[in-house]
Amino acid sequence: MAEQMNAFQIAQSQFDKVAEMLKLDPGVREVLRWPAREFTFRIPVRMDNGSLQVFQGFRVQHNDARGPNKGGIRFHPEETIDTVRALAMWMTWKCAAVDIPLGGGKGGIIVDPSKLSPNEKEALCRGWVQQMIKNLGPRQDIPAPDVGTTPQMMGWMMDEFSKLSGTYAPSVFTGKPVGGGGSQGRTEATGYGAIYNVREAMKYLNMKPKNCVAAIQGFGNVAQYASIAFAEILGGKVACVSCWDRNTKQAYTYSHKDGVDGRFLLSITDQYGTINKEKAMDAGYEVEDGDAWISKEAEVLIPAAMENQINSESVKKISNKVKIVAEGANGPTTLEADEYFKEKGIFIIPDFLCNSGGVTTSYFEGVQNDMNFYWTRSEVLMRLDDKMTASFNDILQMAEKEKAYMRDAAYMVAIQRVVDAMRMRGWLHGDW
Ligand code: NAD
Repeated sequence: MAEQMNAFQIAQSQFDKVAEMLKLDPGVREVLRWPAREFTFRIPVRMDNGSLQVFQGFRVQHNDARGPNKGGIRFHPEETIDTVRALAMWMTWKCAAVDIPLGGGKGGIIVDPSKLSPNEKEALCRGWVQQMIKNLGPRQDIPAPDVGTTPQMMGWMMDEFSKLSGTYAPSVFTGKPVGGGGSQGRTEATGYGAIYNVREAMKYLNMKPKNCVAAIQGFGNVAQYASIAFAEILGGKVACVSCWDRNTKQAYTYSHKDGVDGRFLLSITDQYGTINKEKAMDAGYEVEDGDAWISKEAEVLIPAAMENQINSESVKKISNKVKIVAEGANGPTTLEADEYFKEKGIFIIPDFLCNSGGVTTSYFEGVQNDMNFYWTRSEVLMRLDDKMTASFNDILQMAEKEKAYMRDAAYMVAIQRVVDAMRMRGWLHGDW
């Protein structure tokens, strides 16, 4: 059933389930099942060859009861309004779960950015802002990079907004380059945030990090810094990481008998997260099939590559030693695998808690922009740790109180916070 649903239908059905658990009023459910506002628009771009090409753009603002809408802009050839709606709704829950004063939004353009020249990309970025200018702003809607968009693109978009509004407004976009309004610590924030969560889960489960092994899928931004932090902050051993090899077009798992050295592997990895196989083998790494990561003898699994990686098939290969699954990626676990984890009592750190270090540091970026005063990397990471630790424990408390699965507890905390904000603002009249 879930396999036939699109992302927005899945997001709505997840919401419906928790709304039922929270016994929300039907009217309140109706408000939250759909985005508050949606923008669809056409962006004409003069291409390098002189022709005029028109691109389809989107922005969805799901809910801004807790603060301005926040969420990335995706450039993808298969972008649809329903994907953007789902991602916008998940952003509302993510910001609420970590208790940052922002709402949920998401945007996109149907385009394959790898087919555009730098000039065409810049024109498209500026065109998106021209269409959205009236509904963007540090107190309205704050976009960020996502799949297919980069810090440089955020720099162009921020510049276009500043020019059109006649005011330098760095906090209207986050994920900008450091030196161009970006925050220290943003690069490592998602991976480190995931490991702060793992540390808290280990405390709860009475596990000693130094005796623990992690197996990680992926070696992009999230996995790179999760592997470094697992070894450097927790003192644990990383059995393996994996990646998609863009040259041979297949996935590989890289392991090392003494544990993976994330910093070394990072030095031989390209910008798309492909590890240089020859250099890794020269350094004594063993290279196996892409799916070997999931069956490693490890206490912690960190899927940090893409969605649906732990499914009804792959879940059967998991070692009996696994106690924690920390979802670095968005949506890495299918409903069937979730059932298996519940049955086996495996502790889940759900994606929108586990990978929320990125949006939390984006929020810090906006705060620093507004103050026009910038924190050091260690100040940023200290604040990130505080936020991750508090959010983890809020959700754990809910899970214990309601005897709920961690994923359900995270939804309950998040949805309840949004409903409370709507009530306090007087959006929900009556005694409900
Ligand atoms: P990325 O593009 O930097 O890296 C993705 C990695 O996954 C690459 O190493 C790639 O080779 C690998 N990969 C792809 N297919 C694979 C396969 N079949 N087997 C093994 N490895 C494979 O992406 P990222 O920024 O690290 O994001 C990873 C996940 O985390 C995504 O789901 C993303 O939505 C989510 N996420 C990222 C951030 C962030 O701040 N970067 C924040 C929140 C959520």
